[in-house]
Amino acid sequence: MSERPTLHLRDRTVKALKDDQMRQAVRKAVDRLSGNKDKAARELPNWEDWREQTKLIRQHTVNHLDYYLKLLTDNVRKAGGKVYFAPGPEDARQIITGLCKQYGAKKIVKSKSMVTEEIHLNKALEAAGMDVIESDLAEYILQLAGETPSHIIVPAIHKNRQQIAELFSKAAGEKVEPDTPALTAFARKVLRNKFMTADVGITGCNFAVAETGSITLVTNEGNARLTTALPRVVISVMGMERVIPTFEDLEAVLSMLPRNATGQKLTSYVSVINGPRKPDDIDGCEKFHLVIVDNGRSRMLADEEFRQALHCIRCGACFNVCPVYRQIGGHAYGSVYGGPIGSVITPMLEGDLEFWGELSYASTLCAACTTACPAKIPLQDLLFKLRQRRVSAGHTQAFEKFAFGMWKRFFKLPSTYKFAMKAASLGQKPLVNNGYITAKLPLLANWTNSRYMRAAADTTFRDEWKKRKK
Ligand code: SF4
Repeated sequence: MSERPTLHLRDRTVKALKDDQMRQAVRKAVDRLSGNKDKAARELPNWEDWREQTKLIRQHTVNHLDYYLKLLTDNVRKAGGKVYFAPGPEDARQIITGLCKQYGAKKIVKSKSMVTEEIHLNKALEAAGMDVIESDLAEYILQLAGETPSHIIVPAIHKNRQQIAELFSKAAGEKVEPDTPALTAFARKVLRNKFMTADVGITGCNFAVAETGSITLVTNEGNARLTTALPRVVISVMGMERVIPTFEDLEAVLSMLPRNATGQKLTSYVSVINGPRKPDDIDGCEKFHLVIVDNGRSRMLADEEFRQALHCIRCGACFNVCPVYRQIGGHAYGSVYGGPIGSVITPMLEGDLEFWGELSYASTLCAACTTACPAKIPLQDLLFKLRQRRVSAGHTQAFEKFAFGMWKRFFKLPSTYKFAMKAASLGQKPLVNNGYITAKLPLLANWTNSRYMRAAADTTFRDEWKKRKK
């Protein structure tokens, strides 16, 4: 289970809305990312065919997940690696810390991995006395800041250069200038040394190819390559849906992932690991372990409506177009996965509709996310279904229940409907100004403070109809 935020979603949102620096940084970055993505979509012929292809590959894989996981496991073992299944986060943490202890690991270097964020791995390794360092630049920044990612592709999207320079200066014990070359030079110097001395390298997994047992890692910094090439032991951690049948399928999804994420045709580095180093290999690890994490994914797989959320290729395109994410950033969601896909999968992964199901309300249901998604996941439908399920399960506030109960009562019969319309028309009079309700009533203020609320017409439609008929 994830740690629950102490503040309510509404309060987290209000707090985020007051953070002008964060909002500026997020807006600037998502505008750039979605602009680059639109350009990439225009440049690739038959964009919609590529989306359809991605959807079909992911749909087929997820519908036959048991078969492909077995094939992947067999092929990783054939290549000399070991495979472990972790039903929950605690199992995953125990397996990984156990492996690190088995190899006497003191220093661990990690490349970016959302699933290790999901299982809160760093805390467990540190509690076991190990020194863990994130090697992805953004993750390294967040590690220094003691924060969690706020975007699945650009984890430190909410930080500006000045803030990063302050963090680096504190770590360096001297001033690091807030310009890109100085910042990257500092990070490179620290991280290179960590790569050289790490006992274990831990990676995530963008896609695992079942037919060969290969783990694919895409980065723009080459850190995953160093994480897998230098330490003696490598542990890759993957969510169980990250499998893909063949290299041909990998080619298709790898064409879509960077284009949708950053607008690149391909990331700067694509690393493919096939078990431990073979006698003729010039580099690579001596021991390779793959940890496959379930953590609620089986629950999603068994749910016919929500199974399609497992088709996600984690490109972040839905974040970049979401009018809510663009305003509040990632931390207000309170979960490891923010944005529209995070609002869908968090309640499912956690198996908690009451608390995490609230995230489904962090959406305008405008469907921009669905239109952007390369795997054609109907995100706004799933968000709507979550709301329905939450209401059916009785997880609604007393006032909401009362209001909709009254609405149902009055709208059920023509006589009560007519009465309600008349009463609303008369009752609103003291609040109306130029055809709009503008009064700052506590219950209505959240709406009327930022939106127009039309007053009910003086004459009802039925009365007007009767009058005209005469
Ligand atoms: S839901 Fe779609 S758009 Fe969002 S991260 Fe996943 S694949 Fe990308």
